[in-house]
Amino acid sequence: MNTAKHERVLVIDFGGQYNQLVARRVRECNVYCEIYSYRTPLEEIRGMNPKGIILTGGPDSVYAENAASCSPELFSLGVPVLGLCYGAQLMMQVLGGRVERAPEREYGKTEVIIDKAGSPLFEGIDSPTVCWMSHNDYISQAAPGFEITAHTGNCPVAAAENAGRNLYAIQFHPEVLHTEHGFEMLRHFVMDVCGCSGDWRMDDFAESMIAELKKKIGSGKVLCGLSGGVDSSVAAVLLSKAVGKNLTCVFVDHGLLRKSEGDMVEEVFGPDGPYDLNFVRVNAQDRFYIKLAGVQEPERKRKIIGEEFIRVFEDEAKKIGHVDYLVQGTIYPDVVESGLGGESAVIKSHHNVGGLPDYVDFREIIEPLRDLFKDEVRQVGLRLGIPEKLVMRQPFPGPGLGIRIIGDVTAEKVKMVQDADAIFREEMERAGINGEASQYYAALTNVRSVGVMGDERTYDYAIALRSVNTVDFMTADVTEIPYSVLKTVMNRIINEVDHVNRVFYDITSKPPATIELE
Ligand code: GLN
Repeated sequence: MNTAKHERVLVIDFGGQYNQLVARRVRECNVYCEIYSYRTPLEEIRGMNPKGIILTGGPDSVYAENAASCSPELFSLGVPVLGLCYGAQLMMQVLGGRVERAPEREYGKTEVIIDKAGSPLFEGIDSPTVCWMSHNDYISQAAPGFEITAHTGNCPVAAAENAGRNLYAIQFHPEVLHTEHGFEMLRHFVMDVCGCSGDWRMDDFAESMIAELKKKIGSGKVLCGLSGGVDSSVAAVLLSKAVGKNLTCVFVDHGLLRKSEGDMVEEVFGPDGPYDLNFVRVNAQDRFYIKLAGVQEPERKRKIIGEEFIRVFEDEAKKIGHVDYLVQGTIYPDVVESGLGGESAVIKSHHNVGGLPDYVDFREIIEPLRDLFKDEVRQVGLRLGIPEKLVMRQPFPGPGLGIRIIGDVTAEKVKMVQDADAIFREEMERAGINGEASQYYAALTNVRSVGVMGDERTYDYAIALRSVNTVDFMTADVTEIPYSVLKTVMNRIINEVDHVNRVFYDITSKPPATIELE
């Protein structure tokens, strides 16, 4: 996608945990935004001609040796800069203020008193306002030329600005939802201070991407691996609209999908569906079960599933012969988490971002969604007319039920967890809480215990139910499912699923737990 014609705001990443969120919030203002490491040379930054720059939080202390830093010239580009947390501390230190260890660290929701109601960032926001703090150091003295615009009980400089130079520093995190008016503050920066008009809209993304793909691919042959997930589905539809029958989609059913999921994918992309493409479904369940037999360790399971996936795909690709282009449903967070943008460690090594897998004979890789966040991909999907149940699907891990079955995976266990999960889903929908919960599923614990059924002693498995409410999946709370619903689910699972004699409901939040189990 040619993003160069759009206004852009750059997020300079100092390694903080909420950095993708900052970029997403900017995108929510309809402004294109990319994340770059703090190591990016100043010349490169200038060359991108940004409308604004946001410096993120980070784990270092600005005064420590080898701390992540930036050139003082960053603040003299004539481009508005907003520093958040570490970014704010760095701005102050670089420009002659003072940062030191705070006598008392602040963590969590904190009341912030606004000292300058007329600050462009705080326009229309009443004081005091609740903000999310997470810092050990603090700005003890703002840099010369800066005016203190907010403080807290423990923090003399919670915000400061040099409005003449368009430099703004905020000690708290406006990007997290716990900061009540955080989005408004970011919006004020992006729209009012940077003067962006908001020209990044998903409305024309689909149309211009299809036109671009058409032009690029011409009559070339394209191969797409389809998982049925949101990203690869949207990528496939874009390509099918661009090249029609020159696209072949290979869908590998690894036997670790939710109940009826394979059929749902086939309904949409198969010969009876609305799209004109070549669809190949590979029922590879047995291959995966054989490879997984007896394997207990989650990371090993992931690896095996990932590798076998490639092998199956490779076998199919060989049957198709030469292709010109290989499509991947890479999205922007994959790019960032693969260590290409920003500072985050390599989290998802299986994404192959930027690299070319060598198992298929092809010319080039196409990643039509690599600039988009998930919510943007969903908007594109809806615009393309992909069924809502597919586009709005809950996150589902690549290794599928393989990591929702603790311990070794067998066909029998997969069936148990599929059936229990289907029951849970049905009852959540019946009770009308499916919309409130962000992600829910049944998993199979590796715990067996004694029970009694029909006067007979049993020694069977326990199913764990998990349901969380979250907006960004970075933190999550348990869904408060009414007991009556939980009891119905429990009763049905015990009655309808063989070899289950207990049902647990996991009430742990994230953190400390994660949303998935393995
Ligand atoms: N490491 C810095 C501190 O402890 C900044 C923290 C942050 O950016 N969240 O104050």
